[in-house]
Amino acid sequence: MSCLFCRIVAGEIPATRVFEDDQLLAFADINPQAPMHVLVIPKQHIATLNDLTDAHDGLVGAMVRTAATIAKDHGYDGPGFRTVFNCNAQAGQTVFHVHLHVLGGRALAWPPG
Ligand code: 5GP
Ligand code: ZN
Repeated sequence: MSCLFCRIVAGEIPATRVFEDDQLLAFADINPQAPMHVLVIPKQHIATLNDLTDAHDGLVGAMVRTAATIAKDHGYDGPGFRTVFNCNAQAGQTVFHVHLHVLGGRALAWPPG
């Protein structure tokens, strides 16, 4: 298994897990860009947003709702937080297993770099 995030799902690579259910895993980013920086991923391997089909609509909805719950658990629902999906190289995607960044705890500039 070569995919880094599939290896985290399998427990072959350690991660600080903050949420898990049958279809999703959320864990702390190893190089945090904000006081809270969590990645929400599907347990099944999907390389990029370009690979999603309508069969994934429920899964993606669960990812977004899980991100909001994690932000709320950190107290950032009121102050605000950011969710980001990077897709392919020009957007900065480096791990080709779909992941939703959840960032909070500081003011975040817009537009992003
Ligand atoms: P991308 O640039 O693909 O949108 O985001 C990939 C993210 O995965 C980066 O923020 C990076 O810090 C994080 N990351 C890369 N390798 C690891 C790892 O081994 N463990 C964890 N927890 N995060 C990682
Ligand atoms: Zn994978």
